[in-house]
Amino acid sequence: MKWQPTPDALEKAAQLLKEGKLISFPTETVYGLGALAENDVAVTEIFRRKGRPAKNPLICHFSHRNQFEDFVEIPADHKSFIETYWEKGVSFVLPLKKETLISSKVTAGGSTLAVRVPSHPLAKELLEKVGKPVSAPSANKSMKVSPTCAEDVDEAFPDIPVLDGGACTGGIESSVVDLTTPQPKILRPGLVFPEADPTSSSEELKSPGLLSKHYAPERPVFLNITEPRINQAHITFGPGKKTDLEAGLFNLSPSGDLQEAARNLYRALRDLDQPPFKAITICPLPQEGIGQALQDRLSRAASKVNT
Ligand code: AMP
Ligand code: MG
Repeated sequence: MKWQPTPDALEKAAQLLKEGKLISFPTETVYGLGALAENDVAVTEIFRRKGRPAKNPLICHFSHRNQFEDFVEIPADHKSFIETYWEKGVSFVLPLKKETLISSKVTAGGSTLAVRVPSHPLAKELLEKVGKPVSAPSANKSMKVSPTCAEDVDEAFPDIPVLDGGACTGGIESSVVDLTTPQPKILRPGLVFPEADPTSSSEELKSPGLLSKHYAPERPVFLNITEPRINQAHITFGPGKKTDLEAGLFNLSPSGDLQEAARNLYRALRDLDQPPFKAITICPLPQEGIGQALQDRLSRAASKVNT
């Protein structure tokens, strides 16, 4: 159910959230599926509607940094890290305060909470009106490609109101950074690249929901393919390649801009996930900066492992 983001619609959406209903809203990364984080029933409904495993915790959204400081401990060593990245597409995993109103479903029963302040004006306005933390995973069915426009959300959840803020400017999810350790540690690379240690693959992931297979279209995805194949759609990057959806071709960024490629990646995976194509192939992408986040999403889209 698409809603134009008029002042009345924002007011109504905030009211419904406070009453324990689900509302989808745009952020600078992807569209979120929000529920009041203090409301057990509403949070349970997020897991049910997404088909999300209960062990995969949710990121809590706040309108300002001042707001999340009431819910999590801020380690003195990480104050400046938080100051730098709090409104920049980064989610922080922090120790949850002992006395808390946050539903234990949000944290999957754990002792940490992932917090984030979106910079998108509609998200901010909505969160300000609600005045309480809102848990919001991406507004897609679990394992599927995240939504980057209101139509994508409407397709998966036609009965849930979605505030239509147009296409997301970022296009991939937030970076998730663990701040419970002496050094900030990246659990999931994302839109922005903070200076932090990447998690080594041998280390047990502290982000329990990071499954090998994720963000996947219906069709199989094959990586590092340089030329289009017969009956398969093909994603390219850089000059000299065209976008022609009927021919199954999508250029993520003709100018070779990785930010633009991030913005278009999920669009490409959705638009090419159509007959008559039997698979989606993608050319090699540069690995610097946000290229690492693109590679992370693509390898999960291509994975056949469901764990
Ligand atoms: P999504 O909101 O669907 O983009 O996914 C949120 C991501 O944040 C998942 O990969 C979760 O595992 C991760 N996450 C959320 N809360 C925590 C937490 N408390 N500790 C570690 N990772 C978390
Ligand atoms: Mg998600």
